[in-house]
Amino acid sequence: MKIGFIGLGRMGTGMASRLRHAGYALTVFNRSAERMQPLIAEGAKAAKNIAGACDADMVFTMLADDKALSEVVLGPSGMLEHLKPGAIHVSCSTVSVSLSARLAHAHGERQQGYISAPVFGRPDAASTGKLYITAAGKQDIIEKVQPLFDVLGQRTFIVSDAPEKANLVKLSGNFLIATVIESLGEAMSLVEKGGLDRHQYLDLLTSSLFNVPVYKNYGIMIADRKFEPAGFAAHLGQKDIRLVLAAAEELKVPLPFASILRDRFLDLAAHDGENFDWSAVGSLAAKDAALIP
Ligand code: NAP
Repeated sequence: MKIGFIGLGRMGTGMASRLRHAGYALTVFNRSAERMQPLIAEGAKAAKNIAGACDADMVFTMLADDKALSEVVLGPSGMLEHLKPGAIHVSCSTVSVSLSARLAHAHGERQQGYISAPVFGRPDAASTGKLYITAAGKQDIIEKVQPLFDVLGQRTFIVSDAPEKANLVKLSGNFLIATVIESLGEAMSLVEKGGLDRHQYLDLLTSSLFNVPVYKNYGIMIADRKFEPAGFAAHLGQKDIRLVLAAAEELKVPLPFASILRDRFLDLAAHDGENFDWSAVGSLAAKDAALIP
């Protein structure tokens, strides 16, 4: 089976590498060619363009946002034009519910398969096959992709036969993580201003009621106030809050916390924090409390 992989950023590089190491014949493409070098060194073929990566039975995309995915799929000489009938597009980027539905329709018209499979887990999870995959689409297509999901992730959750539902679940999850980042930042500021040590406080939390990865992993970044290098860039987190608010508006579901987070990400962006890790949102409460400049 021939596999194409488009988008070798922080996440895509690790995922493509996992597939290559599992023995799949892999052709990669990335807009900035230099990012293909590590994969070429591992034995992947480099495509000259999107069309080259589409000469495959299955093509994964892991791109930044709606704009990137739209250009790659729907743009001139994009995937829609070059994917063979029967070939499958596995869309892993975190994108809008509406774009996912649009792609499902467009691929369907060309007898191309499409499933949406956004992931939970940061770049370290991508490179070690520890992602959680949220998949949606036609069952027979998901079954064909499942062996590759098993290489990429520790578990696949099949949420619906409508691909865009996976994007809704993924966006809701990132909304939840962002609320944890914000509330951890607020709680830590409170105890610190009260004269306590924020690292000891975090240890107490994560050794008791909050003994879960999201509190542990983000808690330490907030306590250390270390937001570089970014594993998940703040501008991408901001994009996810924008997309969750768009989905909520469409479904007429008020999400008051998401509106607060929208302003928090804007605050970070206004202070040149877009390329920090998105956990930097958890430092804003310390600024408000005059703990840091
Ligand atoms: P990243 O490191 O910024 O990589 C983004 C990728 O998109 C790069 O390959 C980039 O190409 C490509 N790209 C951007 N704009 C493009 C355009 N207009 N046309 C073609 N290619 C374009 O991002 P990432 O952290 O890997 O995230 C990728 C996706 O996974 C995002 O949707 C993100 O929300 C999601 N995600 C990320 C994490 C995480 O922890 N990082 C976790 C789960 C899900 P260039 O190299 O040419 O810039």
